[in-house]
Amino acid sequence: MRLRLLTAFLLSLCFFGCQPDQKKEGIVITATTGMIHDGLANLLPEDVKIQSLMGPGIDPHLYKPTSNDLAKLKEADIIVYNGLSLEGKMEEILKNLSKKKPTLAVSDFVHEAQLINSNSFSGLYDPHFWFDVSLWNQGLSALSDSIFSIYSWGPERSANPDYAEELMELDNWISGEIASIPEEKRILITAHDAFGYLGKAYGIEVMGLQGISTLSEAGLKDIDILTDFIIEKEIKSVFIESIINPKAIQAVIQGCKLKGYEVKLGGTLFSDALGPQGTEEDNYIGMVRYNVTTITNAIR
Ligand SMILES: [Zn+2]
Repeated sequence: MRLRLLTAFLLSLCFFGCQPDQKKEGIVITATTGMIHDGLANLLPEDVKIQSLMGPGIDPHLYKPTSNDLAKLKEADIIVYNGLSLEGKMEEILKNLSKKKPTLAVSDFVHEAQLINSNSFSGLYDPHFWFDVSLWNQGLSALSDSIFSIYSWGPERSANPDYAEELMELDNWISGEIASIPEEKRILITAHDAFGYLGKAYGIEVMGLQGISTLSEAGLKDIDILTDFIIEKEIKSVFIESIINPKAIQAVIQGCKLKGYEVKLGGTLFSDALGPQGTEEDNYIGMVRYNVTTITNAIR
């Protein structure tokens, strides 16, 4: 109920001055990340043009919009971003755009109590909530409902009316996959803290070498602590991420080797961006399935 009130409030903010032009032919929505783009392409009507700024391999924490991106933001009737400081370098631009048109954060459409407090920055939340599929579903559904109400669309206009159900199936599938791993082996070590929500929602301990944002570099001390932990827990595999230079995780593997323990590279995970176009990971469901399969195969 509070969410609905929040949605109404957010939209009412825009009533005087930033209501999209409903007479204009062809509605354009610009999303920041590929995960949001893919969700909206499923939930909104097929004739809505949806475009995103950040392609495969792009790190949203460090991302600064190009002049082409600024044109996409200007062209948009509505802008949708993740929020919780994921798009840290775009905050000023998004704030300015919000005075001109509806500029909606998916994170404003989830219950605050379900967000994870970030250890790295007091008072801020971990922005990677797309890895709790149920929470992501909640945010995207409520956000798309509010866009439907702006344009008075009926529910039959959704491009994929089964999308919410597909996400619920994905959520159940992940729970089953993680539950099939012996409890003491449910430890995920990656380059940065992107998988906290995966850990919390599905019962897996997660450790990232960098903090929540990729802005901070891992030091030698962090690598030393992590290698001791890996050896103590007899962890088989660690993971690199598509958006991050693999050298820090390679240093962890090397560090273990110097201490006489062999830990393998479990694979590359897609953390903050979808996979390349034409691969199974080029959409949100495919990306999550790929990550979970890669993780469970390597740590089992
Ligand atoms: Zn991240």
